[in-house]
Amino acid sequence: MALINEHYLKLKAGYLFPEIGRRVKEFSLAHPDKKIIRMGIGDVTQPLVPSVLKAFHEGVEEMGNVATFKGYGPEQGYEFLREAIAKNDFEARGVDISADDIFISDGSKCDTGNIQEIFGLDNKIGICDPVYPVYADTTVMSGKTGIYQENGYFEKIIYMPCNEGNRFIPDLPIQRPDLIFLCFPNNPTGTVATKEVLKKWVDYAIANKSIILYDAAYEAFITDKNIPHSIFEIEGAKKVAIEFRSFSKTAGFTGTRCAFTVIPSELVAYDSIGNAHQVKPLWMRRHTTKFNGVSYPVQKAAAAIYSEQGKKEVKEVINFYLENARIMNQSLTSLGFKVFGGINAPYVWVKTKNNMKSWEFFDKLLHEINVVGTPGAGFGPSGEGYFRFSAFAERANVIEAMERITKLFE
Ligand SMILES: *Cc1c(COP(=O)(O)O)cnc(C)c1O
Repeated sequence: MALINEHYLKLKAGYLFPEIGRRVKEFSLAHPDKKIIRMGIGDVTQPLVPSVLKAFHEGVEEMGNVATFKGYGPEQGYEFLREAIAKNDFEARGVDISADDIFISDGSKCDTGNIQEIFGLDNKIGICDPVYPVYADTTVMSGKTGIYQENGYFEKIIYMPCNEGNRFIPDLPIQRPDLIFLCFPNNPTGTVATKEVLKKWVDYAIANKSIILYDAAYEAFITDKNIPHSIFEIEGAKKVAIEFRSFSKTAGFTGTRCAFTVIPSELVAYDSIGNAHQVKPLWMRRHTTKFNGVSYPVQKAAAAIYSEQGKKEVKEVINFYLENARIMNQSLTSLGFKVFGGINAPYVWVKTKNNMKSWEFFDKLLHEINVVGTPGAGFGPSGEGYFRFSAFAERANVIEAMERITKLFE
């Protein structure tokens, strides 16, 4: 008899985005004449920049020529890409990360989920609430939790509520997590962490022999000079942190697929009798066993964002999204909404009015002005009463959506 992994049965059935899709579809079928503006799902809208596209094409051409054809590449990723990352993303910021500590992959979603398997089942996992759903769901799949409870939390996960009270920056938890997921700039709240905040977490991890799983998927949106782009800008972090980066939001690679994970040689975790072991070789072992690398043309395309021209082009796209966020932030603020994020991040996190619930607000916007956003409650109980607008949209749509919202609320 084939037995399933019963941990999967604990997962919630109604996942956020399918439910949004269902409601939008139902509405558009009933009102086919309405023009719906979608600012819900966190997917980019602008195409690959010219430098990336050119490198991508060249990579494809090389694959079609016997002299330059490439079969399996190194599982960890081509050195040209890892060197470019080490130099531009880290060395340029005064952070010493070796190309050997970088692992190229096909996505940060996969990496933040897969990383769990090199850690023991008895680890307690700390997760912010609200949160990118992947961290919680993969924790459940890996068997580290109990059941889903009525309060919206899984048993055994240590939740760290983020709310207006702490400006959406988690407080140190009372119970000690062994693995701590942090994401800055944050999805969904758009908030960023200062050096002081990250230092507090690094010190906490050092004191507790915990590891921080730091998701920096949105670092490219940081414009404030004082905000760290990498957790490794914090002293001591190399001993206690893994960082996840992705080309998805940085360079429009959501459909192209390329990301990387940084595991410094200094990082250790412990066996059941307390002996320290380097984490990096375990991830290398997993990577070489279960992964055969990202395609050569994609890695070549990714490396193009580090050329002078590539940097300029990518920056322009980021600035385009940030301008969208600024427009939303300004409109919503002037309508009297409490607005968070949207400055060093592509997400604008808004408190609904009159204590309206997230899904009520969603239905109101959908039905009355045909604008789609994301209900904050879908990211966790502490997101109730909030709403996320994504800046990944066409400018004209952003402007029209804000005009419609203004008519509704002014
Ligand atoms: C979009 C996103 C990612 C990137 O995932 P990919 O698999 O690399 O596309 C990672 N973390 C968060 C929080 C995200 O929103």
